[in-house]
Amino acid sequence: MTLSSPEPVHPSSDVAPVAGRFDHVRRRIAKACRIAGRDAAGVTLVAVTKTQPSEALDAALAAGQRVFGENRVQEAQGHWADRDRSGLELRLIGPLQTNKAADAVELFDVIETVDREKLVDALAAAGAKAGRTVRVLIQVNTGAEPQKAGVLPEDADALVAYARIAGLHVDGLMCIPPVEEAAGPHFALLRKIARRNGLEALSMGMSGDYELAIRLGATHVRVGSALFGERNRPVKPSMD
Ligand SMILES: *Cc1c(COP(=O)(O)O)cnc(C)c1O
Repeated sequence: MTLSSPEPVHPSSDVAPVAGRFDHVRRRIAKACRIAGRDAAGVTLVAVTKTQPSEALDAALAAGQRVFGENRVQEAQGHWADRDRSGLELRLIGPLQTNKAADAVELFDVIETVDREKLVDALAAAGAKAGRTVRVLIQVNTGAEPQKAGVLPEDADALVAYARIAGLHVDGLMCIPPVEEAAGPHFALLRKIARRNGLEALSMGMSGDYELAIRLGATHVRVGSALFGERNRPVKPSMD
């Protein structure tokens, strides 16, 4: 009697289906664009790699993904500092402390979570020191949730103006709607604030609502679990 050889052991059981999930999400994005009468080239899939093992990043890269979102400066350094980053775009989508501004400017192509003047000042100083223009989004707390980061909607215009005067390049706006509310009105509010400020980029929509976000004008959808599977540990809000 012969024993069948054992299945190869994979470092993470979640890696194998990643290519298929990318394919699935890309198709759904393309379909949402068609339905909305939008050019698919106007929507960028940002793959959110927080808490993922290195093998998941390998699988995403192998699937052709080039734009990534990270929540924490330190984790992002661990993920990306030793990789060949040519042709990649890294976006910070988690809260940033002013004392990490220089590290963030060094690592990230775009910082999506600018929400206060002190952070604008720190990023402008870091950009000046590094000799480059810092690209940012202004994060808007569309639900005015006390525990959530982001500038209040009524203060957004002033912060956009402040960031521009400070020399940052403001690409657009980002929001994370309240979990317990319908996201649509929040996406619509973000678009309205962007329009009146002449801003193009709208980072909105996650695994559960990216198609709705595309319908309402998203240019960047930030998708994690739909691509990599459920995260195996809860992500606590971090202060870096
Ligand atoms: C984790 C995270 C995402 C991705 O969330 P999923 O629901 O897993 O797609 C998007 N945006 C931000 C700011 C996040 O922290």
